[in-house]
Amino acid sequence: MAGGLAAFVVGVEEALGGLLVVLLLLLLHHHRNMGRVASWAREPAGAPVPRSFGAWDYLFASLARRERESLEQHARLTRNLKRFREATQALPDGVIYLTRQRTIEWVNAAAASYFNLDAERDLGRAVTSLVREPAFVHCLDHGIREPVVLRGGHHEGLTLEVQVIPFGEGQELVLARDITQLERLDMMRRDFVANVSHELKTPLTVVNGFVETLLDAGEEFSAADRQHFLSLMLEQSLRMQRLVDDLLTLSSLQAAELPRGEEVVDSAALLASVLEEGEALSAGRHRLTLASSGPALLVGSQRELYSAFSNLVSNAVRYTPEGGKVALCWAADADGGASFSVQDDGIGIEPQHLGRLTERFYRVDQGRSRNSGGTGLGLAIVKHVLTRHGAQLSITSQPGEGSSFTARFPPRRVRERA
Ligand code: ADP
Repeated sequence: MAGGLAAFVVGVEEALGGLLVVLLLLLLHHHRNMGRVASWAREPAGAPVPRSFGAWDYLFASLARRERESLEQHARLTRNLKRFREATQALPDGVIYLTRQRTIEWVNAAAASYFNLDAERDLGRAVTSLVREPAFVHCLDHGIREPVVLRGGHHEGLTLEVQVIPFGEGQELVLARDITQLERLDMMRRDFVANVSHELKTPLTVVNGFVETLLDAGEEFSAADRQHFLSLMLEQSLRMQRLVDDLLTLSSLQAAELPRGEEVVDSAALLASVLEEGEALSAGRHRLTLASSGPALLVGSQRELYSAFSNLVSNAVRYTPEGGKVALCWAADADGGASFSVQDDGIGIEPQHLGRLTERFYRVDQGRSRNSGGTGLGLAIVKHVLTRHGAQLSITSQPGEGSSFTARFPPRRVRERA
């Protein structure tokens, strides 16, 4: 009996010893795995998650899945950010991201060039220490959200439209758009409207004056006087008519491309009618000649070419005193193209005017141009027509001796008859 009890006690002791060893091993296992978790957590993101068995393996597998998902999300966000920056970089407008403290977080290439910024070196610097234009600083300081115009601060002649836009948490975006060209066009448009109004005002005033005189006291004048007044009124209204016609021609030249299926113009017929018109304008006061040895056909718009050529001839007649010569010439060029030139021995042009003659309403002598029926638009029309036909206009002139205007057409614009 006593032996059996002793054996039982020994058995229990052994079992307890075994249990202790198992518990110790389990403790060691947990301790080791906790250590591995702790050291994995200290590793940089992406370090492989340790492997184990049992509950720990389950835990490690969950951690590994979480880690993978967060890495994937991070990669996705990085890709999106990169794409977003690439898109912003490609914008023609300038973009600057500012932090809450108004330091530069990022600049695209356009903004770097507009404001002379360095996209690397200037990151983290206060924007107002680099872009100091008072209007811009005022905008930032007073939270003004409307666009402001900055002129010539960083680049001579550059006009920028700049707008500060709030975003995120207290951050700001600076958008800058180059409006130099737009401003120039707008100024040209305003000048043009002012010029047209001015051109119309004088003849209108004259016509109004005569109409009022005739209405108030028409019967006090003789029939011959009234006839004279009416002919002066007609002269002024014809002047307005010419101006409106030239304006319409110019606007139709600017409005549309040259039609694709272009006409083939018979150069001999074109030149003959241009010569005829010149002779009618000269009314026998000048000697007009035509030398034509150039290609038989010109590819382009008959109406436009007629308008350009006859403007050149009309100028030669109008700016050449009575008894002078006007020579028209159509000849082949060495490069396979052909040239139409009009040479006169008239009043000529001072060299300083030559570069500006094709500007709308540019005249060397206002009075002379108007008295001879000029609108100031003839050479602008010539220039437009020639540009549309790929041709070049060259002008040479000697004051007091005469001028020569030459339109040079490229080979693709001329043809011989098949
Ligand atoms: P306008 O209607 O005044 O003649 P254009 O545009 O045809 O306008 O010409 C612009 C200016 O160029 C003229 O006002 C004139 O001063 C000058 N010009 C043009 N052609 C000649 C020429 N053949 N000889 C001298 N001056 C010319």
